[in-house]
Amino acid sequence: MKRWKPWHGALALALVATVTAGLLWWQPWHDEPAPLAFTTAPGGSARFGTGEHLYRYKVRVEDGIRESPEQFAAEVDAILGDTRRGWAAGNTASFQRMPADPVDFTVYLASPSSTDRICGQYGLDTGGWVNCGVQHQVVINLERWTELSEFYQGRPELYHALAVNHEVGHILGNGHVDCPGPGAPAPVMMQQIKGLHGCVPNGWPYSDAGTLLTGPPVQAPSNAP
Ligand SMILES: [Zn+2]
Repeated sequence: MKRWKPWHGALALALVATVTAGLLWWQPWHDEPAPLAFTTAPGGSARFGTGEHLYRYKVRVEDGIRESPEQFAAEVDAILGDTRRGWAAGNTASFQRMPADPVDFTVYLASPSSTDRICGQYGLDTGGWVNCGVQHQVVINLERWTELSEFYQGRPELYHALAVNHEVGHILGNGHVDCPGPGAPAPVMMQQIKGLHGCVPNGWPYSDAGTLLTGPPVQAPSNAP
């Protein structure tokens, strides 16, 4: 039997210290987030509207969710393609869906956690709850898309129009506005999910008569989506 010598203890301590330092540096208990996987809707659309500034977009749906890229793209096309009530009605912007780059913005349908990850890259806090529109990205939270927001229960088409029009409104450079007065249609650039402030639900930037539905600008914190 070997005799224990003092340097054995020192060696054991050094070994423990090395392994601990290695684990602290490697942190194997922190799971690396899986890379996000999306499928782009195939094909494209006609040009919607006659506005001089053409915005080309593509539509991408996260893999593994029940909405298909084709189905989601068809709804986005119908919203951006509404030349009577949509952003194209202003006659300054027109829209066209493309099957691939180059595009001016991308519309994503993503799980709440993926929405937070993408929006968070731009400093926006979506809290697993809301959508975002920033720089060249529109991110629609799948849970909002299917469960809608408080004031739109039972009206999925109107909420879908609101979600897409609000976030695309940011891409076009519009900031948040408030309700202009009791009973007025809630402007799409209102953060309607936080309350309608006396306005009535509305998902379109323009009225049937072609007037822009807006309200007084609000100062929002820079991380508000
Ligand atoms: Zn917003």
